[in-house]
Amino acid sequence: MTEGLIDTFALKCWLREFAKMIFDGRDTLSQLDAAAGDADHGANMERGMRAALKVLDAGDVNATPTDVLKAVGVAVVNSVGGSSGALYGTIFLRMARSVNGWSEFGADEFAKALRAGLEGVVERGSAKLGDKTMYDAFGPAVEALEEGLGNGLSLCEALRKARMAADAGRDATARMTARRGKASYLGEKSLGSQDPGATSIAILIAAADAALCDEQCGGDGKGYA
Ligand code: ADP
Ligand code: MG
Repeated sequence: MTEGLIDTFALKCWLREFAKMIFDGRDTLSQLDAAAGDADHGANMERGMRAALKVLDAGDVNATPTDVLKAVGVAVVNSVGGSSGALYGTIFLRMARSVNGWSEFGADEFAKALRAGLEGVVERGSAKLGDKTMYDAFGPAVEALEEGLGNGLSLCEALRKARMAADAGRDATARMTARRGKASYLGEKSLGSQDPGATSIAILIAAADAALCDEQCGGDGKGYA
């Protein structure tokens, strides 16, 4: 790996960390979904990330980040029936396309890839800010990341801001009435509970911060470019 760039190893490290955090959070995610949906978000995410781990462990040594993200996206779509399967699958597939077959890439490209994933979610699910979906964590996180990088922050400094924005967005969903997904059938009754998809997206961003800004993913502990 070239100093400071995200390569296949670092990317896989992020996705493995995400899987681990999803397994730890599975029951919480399902409990949140029980309050306003059908109680399966934790199980859906666990199934998807178990399928993703198989792909990550299959380990083609020449795989590019694009190959890895594409294979993970397909594994998630094929293994998860719920709306989150299609949405997370779309995120990873759009990210795959965005990183363009490069063997490694920098912070701006990582932010662009996440932006592409977010756009995929909007195209598929038409969610807007305030609809009480994963968008409410994802949109602010991507914006904070872009803004931070635009202001000259390092990837890790900007990721920390993205993580705070995702957490704040996730928390704000508790004060929203759902307008998309199964929770929208409940109307006002969805008020008071945090959206499960926004919660898992906050985990995705936290995993990026934890993994990419730590020596475990091949960085120098100061984070990537
Ligand atoms: P399902 O709703 O099919 O049971 P999950 O429970 O796994 O699937 O995922 C539910 C999450 O998916 C919601 O908490 C929400 O964040 C997200 N979601 C559902 N519909 C949409 C949509 N149209 N746009 C964005 N996110 C959505
Ligand atoms: Mg559900």
